[in-house]
Amino acid sequence: MPLRETEAVVLRTYRLGEADKIASLFTRQLGRLRAVAAGAQRPKSRYGGTLEPLSYLRLWIFERENRDLLRINSVELIESFFDMQKDYRVQVAAQFVAEVADRFLPEREANDRAFRLLLAVLRAMKRSGEINRPLVYFDYWLLRLGGFLPVFERCASCGRALESGPAYYAAGAEGILCGDCRPPQAVQFGSREALAGIAAHCQATLDRWLGEEKPPGNLPEARHFFEGLIEAHLEKKLVTRTMLDEV
Ligand SMILES: [Zn+2]
Repeated sequence: MPLRETEAVVLRTYRLGEADKIASLFTRQLGRLRAVAAGAQRPKSRYGGTLEPLSYLRLWIFERENRDLLRINSVELIESFFDMQKDYRVQVAAQFVAEVADRFLPEREANDRAFRLLLAVLRAMKRSGEINRPLVYFDYWLLRLGGFLPVFERCASCGRALESGPAYYAAGAEGILCGDCRPPQAVQFGSREALAGIAAHCQATLDRWLGEEKPPGNLPEARHFFEGLIEAHLEKKLVTRTMLDEV
């Protein structure tokens, strides 16, 4: 049974029997995986508070042949994102990030850029208390790294070059739609140029974007658009998306 060392972010945990927990982890070296933390439900467990959602950890893990679940041997906390979640908006935003990462990232596929993205977004929320720009940045890059970011220049249905002006999005569509292709339930979300402008902001680092005083006014629409794309790809509603709409 080889022992592996890796860095990881805790995406969620759930109880296993009376004493143990299962942790869903995004690890830097081994990708997303699930592992058993034996005895983690016990009051004096050796994990202490390290297995809180979104904790950034160094861990040593046993790989077991022909087994889905790995086993955590020991854990060391590198950075906690627990205190920032006292702010309810940040808490919901953090839960959204964890849910999307848990569902969107493929299992057992290391992705260093996605790992760094997750950390950068959590740190930005922790430092600034802002959620809009970090979430848009997270959505944009996650879609892009996964190869699911649509082009903003053409209609996703007919392929026609989009003029400037209003752009439409319908749940389930794989990109922006023109006025002719939009179904009746399509939502108008600002303009094609506005979206392209936000995409341009995402080319710099998140720190740099947050250093600019005023966020663009159409961030909520852009977020809605990207979140819709993520749900379309997952073919599933995100539980935390509804919560986010309410904060
Ligand atoms: Zn069209």
